[in-house]
Amino acid sequence: MTDRPIVTRIAPSPTGDMHIGTARTALFNWLYARGRGGTFLLRIEDTDRTRSTPEATDAILDGLKWLGLDWDGEAVSQFARADRHAEVAHAMMANGTAYKCFASQGDIAAFRDAARAAGTSTLYRSPWRDADPSDHLEAPFVIRLRAPRDGVTSIQDAVQGMVTVRNDQLDDMVLLRSDGTPTYMLAVVVDDRDMGVTHVIRGDDHLNNAARQAQIYDAMGWDLPVWAHIPLIHGADGKKLSKRHGATGVGEYAAMGYPARAMRNYLARLGWSHGDDEYFTDEQARAWFDLDGIGRAPARLDMKKLENLSGQHIGAMLNDDVVAAVLDWARRSGSPLPDAVALRRAVPSVKDAARTLPEVVERSRFVLQNRPIRPDDKAAKALTDDGRAMLRELTPHLQNATWTRDALEGAVGSVAADHGVGLGKIAAPMRAALAGRTTTPSVFDMMLILGREETVARLDDAA
Ligand code: GLU
Repeated sequence: MTDRPIVTRIAPSPTGDMHIGTARTALFNWLYARGRGGTFLLRIEDTDRTRSTPEATDAILDGLKWLGLDWDGEAVSQFARADRHAEVAHAMMANGTAYKCFASQGDIAAFRDAARAAGTSTLYRSPWRDADPSDHLEAPFVIRLRAPRDGVTSIQDAVQGMVTVRNDQLDDMVLLRSDGTPTYMLAVVVDDRDMGVTHVIRGDDHLNNAARQAQIYDAMGWDLPVWAHIPLIHGADGKKLSKRHGATGVGEYAAMGYPARAMRNYLARLGWSHGDDEYFTDEQARAWFDLDGIGRAPARLDMKKLENLSGQHIGAMLNDDVVAAVLDWARRSGSPLPDAVALRRAVPSVKDAARTLPEVVERSRFVLQNRPIRPDDKAAKALTDDGRAMLRELTPHLQNATWTRDALEGAVGSVAADHGVGLGKIAAPMRAALAGRTTTPSVFDMMLILGREETVARLDDAA
């Protein structure tokens, strides 16, 4: 099976937001396939009609697209394959690995009550398993797996190692309900098999399902896929990630302004490692990603780390890509769209310090606003009498200076020296005048980008 081309998949259930755990599982599958010339498929597990919604499907498609996790071919709808699932259940009946069970809910409840009273196992043991077909009823029935009762079912998991379940702990699971619809367990196996999936990388909340699914593969004489069950993501307190830890939806992270490539880097590090590497590119991730690097302990969400990686990625992005990412973020978060041309002028001077895309906008305010600049309260504090006096003295120097960094440093430096202050003391009122903010690029960057006329006008306004 290992010489077959690699096929992985993400199989989300479309209920609610796309969870970042799902995004991480998708990323691992995508990296594994893309790094090996394989195929990465998408299956929407929409079999549960009461819980599945079209909005949730859209959120999955959008989340994957935002993250840049492109899938091959069309997304598969599990619900649309119900006939095929039923066909396999009937094939299993034909080969003797499944049977019709006519037990009613009442029969099953009575079995359990009796078992409890007798102190025996409440796992349902259907009398229909060994019934003669001539005794079958004209009544609704489910199709159950004729599961092995003796021995064990073992799966070799690429992360968890050998996982063994005693067969007497498993019941004859239902494959097809009395209304003819498949159970989740059957649908997953049939779909993975039909889609040619070679590697199933998913959350370890599905580990127990794997043994049951292995029984279905065995019943059909199908090769098992390679399973890799990855520990779930935990919050900073070590408990399973939930809303009370903060954002859990992929869309929320997009709206907070982390670029997708930073999110990929961060999610890859959540549960997988390559030596001590924290920051890496997509190319490196694809080349390095391997199942061996997946840890067995749950990874903890660490927003500081995400922010730090995000800053590094923004700094490393091409200027035009930063602009595009900012515009995409603004659209997603419903923030005002900044002027792309103005933003592009500021980006080279702000991208190294910004940790998020909204911070890029914040630091670019000096090019995004027109005169008169209205300083915010914090910045306005620097416009003291002394501060304004320095600005007044500075403007004549600037009228004559050549507009180069050296000359501007000389001009600003000499006014500061005349006042017996350091550069920081004169930079503060300049920031207030040029940007109306305290968090800005260097005053020299701002002057060079704004040009002489605009710079002098803003300083005059504030002086
Ligand atoms: N639909 C399942 C889920 O959302 C995934 C099933 C699988 O990966 O096998 O958790």
